Amino acid sequence: TDPVFEVEDLRVAFALEGGGRIDALDGVSFSIAPGETVGIVGESGSGKTQLFMAAMGLLARNGRATGHVRFAGTEILGLPPAELNRLRGARFAMVFQDPMTSLNPFLTVERQLTEVLVTHRGFDRARARDAAIQMLERVQIPEPERRIGMYPFEFSGGMRQRVMIAMALLCGPEFLIADEPTTALDVTIQAQILSLLAELKRDTGMALALITHDLGVVAGLCDRVLVMYAGRIVEEGRVQDLFREPLHPYTAGLLASIPRADPMSVEDDEPPLIAIPGQPPDLQHLPSGCAFRTRCRFAFERCAREVPPLRGAGQGRAKACHLDQPPAVGTPRP
Ligand code: SF4
Repeated sequence: TDPVFEVEDLRVAFALEGGGRIDALDGVSFSIAPGETVGIVGESGSGKTQLFMAAMGLLARNGRATGHVRFAGTEILGLPPAELNRLRGARFAMVFQDPMTSLNPFLTVERQLTEVLVTHRGFDRARARDAAIQMLERVQIPEPERRIGMYPFEFSGGMRQRVMIAMALLCGPEFLIADEPTTALDVTIQAQILSLLAELKRDTGMALALITHDLGVVAGLCDRVLVMYAGRIVEEGRVQDLFREPLHPYTAGLLASIPRADPMSVEDDEPPLIAIPGQPPDLQHLPSGCAFRTRCRFAFERCAREVPPLRGAGQGRAKACHLDQPPAVGTPRP
């Protein structure tokens, strides 16, 4: 089957005031199949958000994107805003970390939800209202008939995120992009929103890209993971493969730093909780060669000389690292 979403050699650069530029994305390529859930994982500065901002035509003014982004075979990079808007909301949608950035604080939820259906589906107000109430029910908002008349600020953080998800799903998109959808929420609500997303995904068959800094979040939800660092994909693979045997030291570090569900029950054979040393990548001052090398316990001489390309490693896996052997999770440097 043809991919629902395809990125080819995408580059994003931001011009800096007073000259110079930052390369936020440096030749990223991947595709997402219909119905597939792909986690895109990385720290701030990894480019994971810019990737989709570029695709959605939402880059900051000083940003420039080149390459290809295709949705269901149609090139969408550089599409005029009106055409992109027609697709966005109707056939693909995006959910952000902070729903207040996408919900209008001055309009009731009813007004905002019905507007989507009136614009994209040509529904009349009454029919749009019924469909919106049904969708609020679907995302498990209690008393939807009453709450639909409320303003966004009258909802709790978790409920607002549900409203946002409802709005994104109103038109039955084939592809949903969720950018840190649970980061601002407490752990219990996080788990509820993730299981809601999993359920909606199962029922609708839509494809899902889940952008997160937390590899733990993708574990239960995703089929495949892309790990990003400093504007590149450094590892790619199926979730179970990547969790069992990470190929890139950065992935190994991310895995080792996932907090356990019950931190009191650490068994002897479990690796200890390890944080990756150093700071997230500073795109203006990247080291030569492998951008991760100043934080990598396995760095050797070649890492300073050559940028490791992303190379296939069999079974749908790929890594960008000069090491021949995968790093053992949690082990000290040999
Ligand atoms: Fe570490 Fe070198 Fe691999 Fe980069 S290429 S991750 S520095 S071992």
